[in-house]
Amino acid sequence: MNFTRRLFLKHTVASGAGFFSLFRKKAHAKDHLPVSDESQVGCLVDTTLCIGCRQCEKACNLNNNLAKPEVPFTDKSVFREMRRPTENALTVVNEYVGNPSPDQPQRANTYAKVQCMHCLDPSCVSACIVGALTRTKDGAVVYNPTICLGCRYCMVACPFQIPAYEYEDALAPLVKKCEFCADFSTGTGADPSCAKACPTEAILFGNRNELLDLARDRIRKRPDRYIDHIYGEHEVGGTSWLYLAGRPTEEIDLLSLPGDAPPRLTENIQHTIFKYGAIPLAIYGALGAVMWHTNRKQNTESNVEGENNE
Ligand code: SF4
Ligand code: SF4
Ligand code: SF4
Repeated sequence: MNFTRRLFLKHTVASGAGFFSLFRKKAHAKDHLPVSDESQVGCLVDTTLCIGCRQCEKACNLNNNLAKPEVPFTDKSVFREMRRPTENALTVVNEYVGNPSPDQPQRANTYAKVQCMHCLDPSCVSACIVGALTRTKDGAVVYNPTICLGCRYCMVACPFQIPAYEYEDALAPLVKKCEFCADFSTGTGADPSCAKACPTEAILFGNRNELLDLARDRIRKRPDRYIDHIYGEHEVGGTSWLYLAGRPTEEIDLLSLPGDAPPRLTENIQHTIFKYGAIPLAIYGALGAVMWHTNRKQNTESNVEGENNE
């Protein structure tokens, strides 16, 4: 099919109209629910208790019906390199070599699990122009694949570089990230699979405020074991996943981040648009056409690749 000017214009107008209705929907959607102390859930990861067994990875893999990993979950060779969550591993555990001494035994090797932090003010939600990412009243940041455009703004916006992108179906690509086992953990109070599987209780699930109290208590009682910092209490406006550590958090890739969520470029654009009541159809239409064209190109490339592999 040739991408003619007529077709481009037709697609542009159609896309613009489609975007308009989606934006209208999003404008009324409550995707920035206020954080309620009572209902806000979280997980506390005590990295001083983590033994790097990767049972959390395995449980997450099974619960989310992800592809079987290339190496078994018992294989510790994965620790040779730093890993990030992928479309087939929504959480990964990394090892950080330590330097223990008699007075600082906590500086032994540290293991820390990585997954979506479920920010209280999630930049991915703000960046998504169609509202495919939302935050539930409990605090889980969840994804709706049926309205995702595949623009990947969320990936750019996330300060923790979490969302991964699944290209398996070029026409219907998916953003993949930890959903906090939202179906059950935030609905019924049951533990997420990773927390349930952890043999050392290095992951505790519960009310975020109660977890903060617990974390403060641990720091107060064992200053020799913990640094005086609950990672996620304030970073980027606070996160539902919280971390305790026995060494500076930067050393275990918990980045030093400001106390505010990153600026919300797309949200500001949307607010401006609605404030003045003008919807620049051409802009959104053109964006839609570009995405359509990109998806088509990826599809063509994967077809060609498929033919070459035959
Ligand atoms: S960690 Fe990233 S993907 Fe997860 S809620 Fe925060 S901004 Fe969104
Ligand atoms: S909460 Fe669920 S999806 Fe998230 S890392 Fe744990 S098991 Fe995986
Ligand atoms: S299951 Fe628990 S102890 Fe094992 S790697 Fe995961 S967080 Fe660490």
